Amino acid sequence: MLANLNSFDVNTLLSEVGEAAVFVDKNWTARYCNDVYARNLGLTVDEVVGRTPFEYAPTSFRRSIFFETCEYCLVNRAPVSKIGYSTVLSRWLIVRVFPVGDGVFMLANDASESVVKAYNLAQAAVRDSLTGLGNKLAMEQEANQLAQQGQAFSVVLIGIDRFWDVNDSHGYAAGDMALLEVASLLQSMTVDGEVIYRVSGDEFAVLRRAQSGAPAERASAFVRAVKRPMVLNGKRLVLGACAGTVRAPADGADFELLLQRAGLALRSAKKSGRDYVAVFREELELAAKSRSDLESELRAVLDGREFVLMIQPKLSLVNSAVIGGEALIRWAHPERGLLSPAAFLDIAENMGAMAAIDQWVLQQAIAYSAQLRDMGVNLPISINLSVESLADIYLADRVAIALKESNVPANLLEVEIPEGALMRDVSVSSRIVADLHNMGVRISIDDFGTGYSSFAYLAQFNVDALKIDRSFVKDLATSEASRKIVKGIVRLAHSLSLEVIAEGPETDAQVNLLRKMKCDAIQGYVAAKPLTWPQFKQFVADHPAITAPNPFAI
Ligand code: C2E
Ligand code: CA
Ligand code: CA
Repeated sequence: MLANLNSFDVNTLLSEVGEAAVFVDKNWTARYCNDVYARNLGLTVDEVVGRTPFEYAPTSFRRSIFFETCEYCLVNRAPVSKIGYSTVLSRWLIVRVFPVGDGVFMLANDASESVVKAYNLAQAAVRDSLTGLGNKLAMEQEANQLAQQGQAFSVVLIGIDRFWDVNDSHGYAAGDMALLEVASLLQSMTVDGEVIYRVSGDEFAVLRRAQSGAPAERASAFVRAVKRPMVLNGKRLVLGACAGTVRAPADGADFELLLQRAGLALRSAKKSGRDYVAVFREELELAAKSRSDLESELRAVLDGREFVLMIQPKLSLVNSAVIGGEALIRWAHPERGLLSPAAFLDIAENMGAMAAIDQWVLQQAIAYSAQLRDMGVNLPISINLSVESLADIYLADRVAIALKESNVPANLLEVEIPEGALMRDVSVSSRIVADLHNMGVRISIDDFGTGYSSFAYLAQFNVDALKIDRSFVKDLATSEASRKIVKGIVRLAHSLSLEVIAEGPETDAQVNLLRKMKCDAIQGYVAAKPLTWPQFKQFVADHPAITAPNPFAI
């Protein structure tokens, strides 16, 4: 025990300690102290020993961490350790005090450096290193504080449009510059009570305590600010942005929920186009929920057990005979009824499930072709190929296997490829189209007229038919421009020896115009809507078909 050591031993011991050390008895009289302790106070050891701090230290000592910890230990006879700011030394200290004999022994260590480091670390955790703005964590802390105080506030979440384009075309350094610029543009817009945070790569958020102006109006002002032209590496750049807004506590008391709802509003704004602002509404959440429900339900039925393949007849404009049919998928949802492709194909696309769906359609369509063949009817059934399938180098192999398994000749299968999808990655899609064509599968270009393909490209692909997009057919009777376009497409198709078929005529007037323009065939409600398989077979029986040449016939 310290108290049992002689003073020489204790002084030697304390002089070895790098920290400030002092032993005070129950009356606060310093019995021993080391040089560090005395020097910290601008005194010598002799000036301290035998006196109380009330005598040798400034009066602020009574508010010091030294006083606080020693008193605690003297009263409670229990060790204590604490980090605190010493008002006497103007430094951060780690103070440890132990009861020894009837007094206490105190060690104090300068902790200023580690406290500053810890503070910087804490700051780094709440600061965005690029822009210096507060990050999502900082925003959360502020929002929680406001919520605790019962204060209402609103959040404007601002998303830069297609920011990856800036990184891709100008480089990451320029992308960073652009973000810095946006940060300062937004910051320059703020009024009292508004704080800007950067909450993710290309998203900024304004926490608005100010009640001045509706959130949507402020959001529009921020979105307009982002549009101000900037110069990056000598090049002019104009960014666009959209914004979503939420109000607290009305739209959610919890910060994560608020930000999630602001995100829903932002995405709905982005869907509407550039420079849009959307206010959170409950419907957005319901739509998102129904979408995510649909997604998990779809995942469970990708084997096709709830899919239905409808067939829409294609008719010759020369003799009204059925010349084929297009397979169009439906989802017979147990609760929601028969869902059209528009209700679930984009979800499937996002899930990366289109290739699986196309595969099911392929097999089902070939099974139908086999049934027709068994009835002595040789009509091509066409299927739609998704972008995902068009990037699949094994597609032609899969098609070949499916045809072989059902013993259906390749010319009874047709694939429809949207013009836009064909042009996306010409090197891959031209290879796939060539492979399918060489097998004998018929190829038609869907939605023709919407994808800007040039004459040269068309000649490069081995296609059999062009399908004129419905948007041109729809306005045939009323729009001179549409008539010109349709006429042009028919002429182009014939000059390349391609068949041309018009999508979606609904009136006799449209049909007559198409016939006059020498269009070969139609597929539209005027003749028939997409039919169930039994209905289609009946339709074929009612319309004498011109059969496709049977390669097995001698
Ligand atoms: P699409 O390939 O252009 O198919 C033609 C669409 O036009 C069909 O819509 C069809 O019902 C509709 N239609 C045909 N005639 C008329 C008409 O006279 N008036 C009107 N208003 N519409 C008409 P549907 O079945 O809703 O399919 C929409 C799109 O979904 C298709 O457009 C196609 O891109 C895609 N799709 C449908 N089934 C499949 C499939 O099995 N696989 C893939 N990958 N895509 C499919
Ligand atoms: Ca189609
Ligand atoms: Ca089409």
